[in-house]
Amino acid sequence: MKVKLNNLSMKFQDVVAVKELNLSIDKGKLVSILGPSGCGKSTTLYMIAGIYKPTDGELFFNEKLMNGLEPEHREIGMVFQNYALYPHMTVLQNIMFPLKMQKVPKRGALLRAKEMADLVQIGHLLDRKPSQLSGGQQQRTAIARALVRKPKLLLFDEPLSNLDARLRIEMREEIRRIQKELAITTIFVTHDQEEAMSISDEVLLMNEGIVQQYSPPQEMYDQPKNLFVASFLGSPPINQLKGKIFGKRIHLMETEQSIPIETEIANEDCTIAIRPEAFYIAEGDDFSLTAKVEFIEQVGRDIMAIVTIGQATLRAFLAREDQIQQDETIKLGIRKTGFHVFSSANEQNLP
Ligand code: ATP
Repeated sequence: MKVKLNNLSMKFQDVVAVKELNLSIDKGKLVSILGPSGCGKSTTLYMIAGIYKPTDGELFFNEKLMNGLEPEHREIGMVFQNYALYPHMTVLQNIMFPLKMQKVPKRGALLRAKEMADLVQIGHLLDRKPSQLSGGQQQRTAIARALVRKPKLLLFDEPLSNLDARLRIEMREEIRRIQKELAITTIFVTHDQEEAMSISDEVLLMNEGIVQQYSPPQEMYDQPKNLFVASFLGSPPINQLKGKIFGKRIHLMETEQSIPIETEIANEDCTIAIRPEAFYIAEGDDFSLTAKVEFIEQVGRDIMAIVTIGQATLRAFLAREDQIQQDETIKLGIRKTGFHVFSSANEQNLP
């Protein structure tokens, strides 16, 4: 099913939770809604589900206006953070419950529920109660229950928040597997950038109710539209330096250093943002900055150098073979893929 949001807005008294959201999701795609706490992720999902009625704008499923339709008539399946399983029912009864409510004949319902249990790999746990399941198994049950009525759209609200780190990774891969197998359009709310980056066809990044960027994950990482996007994605976060552009160079604040930039812009205050992994030890007159090594951390195969340039502290992922020393002054080359310049006035990426 295709999903389209046209200037969708949600106001709670004087709080604008979601502002004029435009979004188009193609059939069979998995879109994550990502952003910090309170940015409007859940409100957006609840409007799509029909739990909240938008205060403005239109919602379409396959060109059909959905605004007035109740959740049960929207052909959606929903999975919540707390799974919302019925504790007194077995796994099988939980999965069958939506079919029972629809008065689907028992034989057909049983077959369908078992098929879904097999799909999410809990076919051997049908007689257990939710309290006798692990977190991951409870989540699988909730997914099977959401799928049992053959929804055309699957909605997840922070489904992995209650699982430990390893299980989160396993379950997100499972969700992606099931989603692809069924080719079902899916919207996945999360505040975890790694989760969103790893499973999505497209990511919608929001802040304060407003869309910051909507693009495939790698594109969002490599071509952030503004400073918020650049700094929200990446761990450790992108490095930031204050500068000013004039004479086709960016002059770093409180230092003698400058770097060339191809631009017609002049006299503009800016923020230079550089990914930690975009640095390397420069040789010759590369596109580079001079920095002092403050300390060095071992991170697996590589090293993380904490360096200073003027008043600013930066992080650089370097190779162990680089053999840099504490207190040494080094020349850090910069790969252009991880280098961005944002206007200080509006925080937009400068052309
Ligand atoms: P979190 O990650 O913390 O769940 P979120 O991105 O899902 O956050 P929302 O729950 O959509 O954010 O909330 C967006 C804004 O709307 C917040 O400022 C929130 O306080 C407000 N809000 C959400 N629901 C209501 C409500 N029922 N009544 C009033 N304000 C609300």
